Amino acid sequence: MDETPANAPGTPDGGSLNFIEAIVETDLKTGKRDRVQTRFPPEPNGYLHIGHAKSICLNFGLAQQYGGKCNLRFDDTNPTKEDIEYVDSIKEDVRWLGFSWDDREFYASDYFEQLYEWAVQLIKSGKAYVCDLTPDQVREYRGTLTEPGKNSPYRDRTVEENLDLFERMRNGEFPDGARTLRAKVDMASPNVNMRDPVMYRILHAHHHRTGDAWCIYPSYDWAHGQSDSLEGITHSICTLEFENHRPLYNWFIEQLGIFHSQQIEFARLNLTYTVMSKRKLLTLVKEGRVSGWDDPRMPTICGLRRRGYTPEAMREFCRRIGVAKFNSTIEVHVLENSIRDDLNQHAPRVMAVLKPLKVVITNYPEGQDEQLDAVNNPEDPAAGVRQIPFSRELYIERDDFMEDPPKQFYRLAPGREVRLRWAYFIRCESVVKNPKSGEVVELHCTYDPATRGGNAPDGRKVKATIHWVSAEHAIPAEVRLYDHLFRTVDPEQVEAGKTWLDNLNPNSLQVLPTAQLEPSLVKAHVGDRFQFERLGYFSVDYDSKPGALVFNRTVTLRDEWAKLQKKQGT
Ligand code: ATP
Ligand code: MG
Repeated sequence: MDETPANAPGTPDGGSLNFIEAIVETDLKTGKRDRVQTRFPPEPNGYLHIGHAKSICLNFGLAQQYGGKCNLRFDDTNPTKEDIEYVDSIKEDVRWLGFSWDDREFYASDYFEQLYEWAVQLIKSGKAYVCDLTPDQVREYRGTLTEPGKNSPYRDRTVEENLDLFERMRNGEFPDGARTLRAKVDMASPNVNMRDPVMYRILHAHHHRTGDAWCIYPSYDWAHGQSDSLEGITHSICTLEFENHRPLYNWFIEQLGIFHSQQIEFARLNLTYTVMSKRKLLTLVKEGRVSGWDDPRMPTICGLRRRGYTPEAMREFCRRIGVAKFNSTIEVHVLENSIRDDLNQHAPRVMAVLKPLKVVITNYPEGQDEQLDAVNNPEDPAAGVRQIPFSRELYIERDDFMEDPPKQFYRLAPGREVRLRWAYFIRCESVVKNPKSGEVVELHCTYDPATRGGNAPDGRKVKATIHWVSAEHAIPAEVRLYDHLFRTVDPEQVEAGKTWLDNLNPNSLQVLPTAQLEPSLVKAHVGDRFQFERLGYFSVDYDSKPGALVFNRTVTLRDEWAKLQKKQGT
C-alpha cells in the first residue's frame, strides 16, 4: 500500500521530484555544481532515532541517486555530553540501515586546529572579538525578537588584544565561562542569530577524541558550516529549525572566502504517540522508564531493530513520508504499516498460543500422534510446506473459548464445532473447571477424523478457524506485547502541573510468560521474524536462552487504526 499523500512531493522512484531533488537537478543542469556531496552529521550524544533515519535516507539516498558521495561526520563539539559508545552505535545503525560512507568517516574535532586558525583570521580582519560578559550578561545584551541588542563593552578591543586573549583562552589561562570569542556581526540585526554569536567557549573538559588538547570548544554555528566547506559538501541538508541560522552560515563562509556549501532545510519527522528528542530519550533511559536505548518501545533505530523492524521497512517508511518544507506529524501507524507490509511478504507463518487453555481430544487414541501439512507463507509459494504434529492433548488460545458466548462470538463454546487450522474440526463436549475458583482449566472435545486438512466431505461449515499447538510437542516461550510508549497523541502536550513523563502509557508492555509454540520454532535464532497466525508478527529477542525463547511482538496483524476509521466512515 502506498501511503504517500497525494499532495506530497515526489519520490525517488519516479513521479515528480521532491524540492531538494529539484534543487540538486537544477544545480547540476546549470553547472553550479558538477557533483553531489552530502553528509549525515550526528552529534554523538545519544542513539539514533527514526527521525535520524529520515535524514540518513535523504542524505545517503541523494548521493546514490545522483552518483555522488555522502560522508558520515560526527559533530563532536560538546565533550561533556558525548561518548564513544554513541559513536559506535551510530555507525552500527547507519550500516544496518544499508548505507556506506566508505572511508569518509569524519569528525568536527578533526578540524579543531583549522577552525582555530580561521578564528584567528576573523580576529585579524576585525570580525571577531574576545568578550568578557558572563553567559547571563550575553543573554541580557542580546535583546529580544522585538528589541535590538546592545553592543558588548568588549566589542571594540584591538586586534592585538583579541589575539592575545584568544591565545591565552586556548592555553588554559582562564576558567570555564570566563570569556568567549564572538563574531562581530550586528547587534541590531532582526535575526537574533546574527547578534554577535558565540564562536568559542572555555570548557576544561576531556574530549573522547582530542583528550585534553583543547579547553576551548567551537559552537555548532562556527563548526558546522566550516566543516561542510572543508569536506566540499555541495548540499548541506538540515532540519527547519536551522533556517534562521542560514544567514550566519553564509556570513562565516563569505568572511573566510572558502568553498560555499549550500544549506537546505527540510521538515523534521514527528510521530504521534512518540517523543523524538535525544534529550528526552536519554531521560527515559536514565530514569529506568525503559530497559535501555534498545527497549523495543523506543523510537530508536536499535529499539525498532530489536522490536523486529527490517532496514527495508524503515527505508520504505522514509520513502512513503517524503520530504517537505513544512512541519507535520506523521501517524505512527504509517510506520507500523511499513513493517507489516514487509513482514507479510517475507515472514514465515507459524502457530503459537499466547495464553494456553488445554484441550483433550477424547476420541483421539492415547500415545498416538501424526504430522499435518501447513503452508509456510501463502504470499510466497517458494516458502513451501512444513509438518506440524497433532496429538490427543492440545493448547488453544484461552480467548478462543467462551462458556457463555455473546451473539458475535463464533469461536469455541460448549456444543460448538470449529476448525483447527491445518488440522480437523473439533466439537466442545464438556468443560473442566477448577472446583474452587470456577475457572475453566480444560476442555474435552471430539474431533472428526473425516475432516483432516480442515474440510468436511459432507460440506458442513464452521464459522471459525482457530490456531493451536500439540501440548506434548510444544515448546515454551515468553512473549512480550507492546503498546505505544505514550498514551497521548502528542506526549509533549502537557496539562498544567504535569510533565511529559506523566503521559507515559503504564500498559505499554505486557509479558506473557507461558506461551506455547509449535516445535518448528526450536530452530529459531535471535532476530528471526515470524507471523504467529492470527496474532501478529513476532521476532526473537536476544534475551532468549536455550530452551527459553523470548519473542517481541513487532506489530499486530491488521492495522486497527485503519479498521476503526473504516468503521467510522472517515
Ligand atoms: P535531537 O533533537 O533528537 O537531539 P539533533 O538534531 O540534535 O536531534 P543530531 O545528532 O544533531 O541530533 O542530528 C543529526 C542529523 O539528523 C541532523 O542533520 C538533524 O537535522 C537530523 N535529524 C535529527 N532529528 C530529526 C528528525 N526528527 N527528523 C529528521 N531529521 C532529523
Ligand atoms: Mg543537533
